[in-house]
Amino acid sequence: MRRERVADDIYVFTSELYAQVTAGAVITPAGAILIDALVFPEEAKSIRHFIESRLNTTVRYVINTHYHADHTFGTCFFENAVVISHAQCHELLLTKGRESLSQTQQQNPRIFSEVDIRLPQLTFESGMMELRLGGKTLQMTHSPGHSMDSIVVHIKEDRVLFAGDTLMPIPYFVDGDFDIFSESLRGLRNGGYENVIQGHGEVILRGEVERKIESDLEYMDCIQKHVKIALTRSNPEAYLRALDVEQCGKSRIPLNGGVQELHIGNLMALLEQYTRRENALKQANSVG
Ligand SMILES: [Zn+2]
Repeated sequence: MRRERVADDIYVFTSELYAQVTAGAVITPAGAILIDALVFPEEAKSIRHFIESRLNTTVRYVINTHYHADHTFGTCFFENAVVISHAQCHELLLTKGRESLSQTQQQNPRIFSEVDIRLPQLTFESGMMELRLGGKTLQMTHSPGHSMDSIVVHIKEDRVLFAGDTLMPIPYFVDGDFDIFSESLRGLRNGGYENVIQGHGEVILRGEVERKIESDLEYMDCIQKHVKIALTRSNPEAYLRALDVEQCGKSRIPLNGGVQELHIGNLMALLEQYTRRENALKQANSVG
């Protein structure tokens, strides 16, 4: 696990075991707040050890940016902390979260047997939720699209944004929705952030933030354009599978080359959405 300091009292932890997933810690005189908790027990425990032994404090709150396993499995190693999330995250952890844990435990009992799903105790549904602790203000806002329960967390005093998976090396909405995701991306424009921590990958510095958001929106436009072209072809899927992520302005390099796979996932999800829409229209016309 890699550790870096993005402000005097804000640390970012990046997994070296799974897809460069990130977690963050905001340290205050009244205790620490953890934003996401990684997936492997070994890494979650090493975050805890660092905060307790090196920074001499304890984690009072864990914020889950969304329910996906790579961000939440580690939460159970902070058993004395209060867990905060969007209300839908609580629902999704109960259903899909538990399913995904039992599957993972079957595949990998040795590593994941001690993991348990911890349900959030404090949730919010709309607007913004604010958490104040030891002179820090954390503003949590719903930012759906990657998953429907996604939130972003802004540390107001430092102008540092933890974007969860609303920002990744490429947009990824297979478990969410294309249009809603685009709307959430637009919502991050002009935030005046010092640093932005993506759910996966490198920290984005002040000068790069706006360019990154525009590049993600351009990517979304590009795949939408290609899915529309694909629908006019005899084999839409084959057309899309041949489309390299670099043709939509994104590098293949991040996430150890995993980007192309996410990209194909996006194309297939959007193709399915459009095909469903077309079929529904055809049906409506035939009825009418
Ligand atoms: Zn993730």
